[in-house]
Amino acid sequence: TYDFTGQVALVTGAASGLGLATAGAFAASGAAVLMTDLDRQALHDATDRLRGAGRQVTGMVVDVTDEAQAAAMVACAVAEFGRLDMAYNNAGILGPMGDITDETGEAFDRVNAVNLRGVWTCMKHELLQMRGQGSGAIVNCSSLGGLVGLAGRAAYHGSKHGVIGLTRAAALDYAAHGIRVNAVCPGCIDTPMGDSIDCASMKEFLGRQPIGRMGRPEEVAAAVLWLCSPAASLVLGVALPVDGGFTAQ
Ligand code: NAD
Repeated sequence: TYDFTGQVALVTGAASGLGLATAGAFAASGAAVLMTDLDRQALHDATDRLRGAGRQVTGMVVDVTDEAQAAAMVACAVAEFGRLDMAYNNAGILGPMGDITDETGEAFDRVNAVNLRGVWTCMKHELLQMRGQGSGAIVNCSSLGGLVGLAGRAAYHGSKHGVIGLTRAAALDYAAHGIRVNAVCPGCIDTPMGDSIDCASMKEFLGRQPIGRMGRPEEVAAAVLWLCSPAASLVLGVALPVDGGFTAQ
């Protein structure tokens, strides 16, 4: 565990799965946390769950595809808590299953709007704030499908490869400003998104994940917190697999 007392963290897609687990881990480590999500009711329930003795947790409905909302999100963190030290850009959607010839342009645009443009909009406004402060740590959520080719869902895998490109570019642009930008690449993790993958694909995935089980959201949260912590002070521009060995093969 880390002591993030006095620090401010922001998480997108925080109402479910990896975002919820990471917001919980930040709060348990003493950080003030702004949880944001598109789903108002789920966000309301999630912030209620995480609020507890001495914890500073607040929620805001944000669609990461909208740059004005991303800017307002960062402004809200600063208005509520005075600064922004750590951000986990996590919101993402899977899109329909099928090979590239099954995908519509509309589905491609929607997946890329959330997974790729969403990371760009949020990171842009987080960097503007952190640059003024002269410090900060950002973690973007890619996927094992951002590191290797996987059959099906070309739009999703293309967007997740793109997240790694955005991460590396921003890491280089902001290294001299005291800001570290990294990405996590989760494998097969037990979340509502994982539940939406059909049974045959899930069995095939798990068969290829050497650890032989699904990951837990808390295991990804632990990697995000480490990347944000002073323990990772020399680490920037990496795409860290958190995948039970999937991409080591
Ligand atoms: P999830 O579906 O449980 O949670 C995603 C959250 O993002 C939801 O609360 C949803 O409301 C929110 N969201 C969707 N669109 C949004 C938008 N436009 N603006 C703001 N919020 C929005 O999924 P998860 O499994 O926790 O996935 C989190 C991230 O991890 C995603 O980027 C996903 O691609 C990535 N990932 C997941 C796995 C896995 O196995 N679960 C593997 C690799 C990568």
